[in-house]
Amino acid sequence: MIREMVRDFAREEVEPQALEHDRDEKFNLDLFKKLGEYGLLGITISDQYGGAGMDATAAAIVNEELSYSDPGFCLAYLAHAQLTVNNLAVNGSDEQKSRFLPGLCSGELIGCMAMSEPDYGTDALGMTTSAILQDDGNWCINGRKMWITNGVVDDEGTAADIVWLYARTGTDSRGRPEISTFIVERGMPGYKAGQKIMDKLGMRASNTAELVFEDCIVPSANLVGEPGHSIRHMMRNLEIERVALAAQAVGISRRCLADMSRYAGEREAFGAPIQQFGQMQRHIGESWAEYRAMRAYVYETCRVMNLESGGQRLDSDGVKLFATTAAKNIADRAIQVMGGYGYVGEYVVERLWRDAKLLEIGGGTLESHQKNITRDLAKNPDPIEE
Ligand SMILES: Cc1cc2nc3c(=O)[nH]c(=O)nc-3n(C[C@H](O)[C@H](O)[C@H](O)COP(=O)(O)OP(=O)(O)OC[C@H]3O[C@@H](n4cnc5c(N)ncnc54)[C@H](O)[C@@H]3O)c2cc1C
Repeated sequence: MIREMVRDFAREEVEPQALEHDRDEKFNLDLFKKLGEYGLLGITISDQYGGAGMDATAAAIVNEELSYSDPGFCLAYLAHAQLTVNNLAVNGSDEQKSRFLPGLCSGELIGCMAMSEPDYGTDALGMTTSAILQDDGNWCINGRKMWITNGVVDDEGTAADIVWLYARTGTDSRGRPEISTFIVERGMPGYKAGQKIMDKLGMRASNTAELVFEDCIVPSANLVGEPGHSIRHMMRNLEIERVALAAQAVGISRRCLADMSRYAGEREAFGAPIQQFGQMQRHIGESWAEYRAMRAYVYETCRVMNLESGGQRLDSDGVKLFATTAAKNIADRAIQVMGGYGYVGEYVVERLWRDAKLLEIGGGTLESHQKNITRDLAKNPDPIEE
């Protein structure tokens, strides 16, 4: 049912605006708020807080279906629903959930997750944004976050309503960073948006921005959990993030297949539809097999994923590693099959090719997945024989 509902919504409302918003690098805030009316912004969280109470599979379905038409718009959805809302629902206190989740689920509040910094991406634990506890019980935060999806919500540079912010609050006895989470609200002194990052290769329908924290004062009520205890939930939420990004790859691949297959049946060259040429059949046949493999792997990973406890890193990294590059290659083949037309915005696949490239970088680079998988298998090789 959810697939049908989102598919209809994507066809009727997302598809018609996608080309224009990519071209203009514009986030469609009004359309985003409609996702709240459909109950999709809190897809994985309890209805007690305005959510839909569903699981990782449902989240993947929404990401797949939206990405069939507009992966950029979907990235804004993912940053809100998976990176902010799901994170808060799993790790926040009851008081924090009651305070923020209803507004985040309705779309009244737009959220973002701020981990990356100008000098620290893959090496996230090196972050230098610091939070220091003041005598009055408030926290004082200083630093800058970079590449934050939904960091601004409009073209006037209005900062996100809610930032799920990771900051360093100390160093443990073994010299490791202690990371804490703060919920920063627009209007808190010292929090502002920096530059909106323009001229991105893809995902142009989502806003990406720098966020600045200058002596930003955050009350202790907005600290999530115990100070210094955030690394575990930061890593745990990366699992749903990676699966959701892989689901975006599934949507991109399905669309590219649909378009290249139809085109190959209609376009004639040398007196025959180009689908009769072996080289075109190779593009379509290989794309189909890769699409089916990624789809099975993504939904199998979702099926066993527990959003509360994590523990699926091996496969959340695995699906993202496989699906994202496969999607980029499938989009590349779609352009090739469609020749000059494939190279033009109106025919969609060139945009999907540009969008697919981000999936190899955001939420963890391909190299970080290779590293994690190798490490996890070295620690415990049992999954290889299962
Ligand atoms: C459009 C967009 C949206 C984003 N949205 C968000 C967001 O909402 N929130 C957020 O916090 N971040 C966001 N990011 C940031 C994203 O997560 C980072 O770009 C990503 O983690 C990589 O970090 P980096 O860009 O600093 O690259 P780096 O970490 O500097 O990496 C550069 C290269 O070095 C390689 N490398 C680094 N370390 C190793 C190693 N140990 N071994 C081998 N190779 C290595 C990398 O794989 C990569 O190829 C977004 C990025 C983009 C482009």
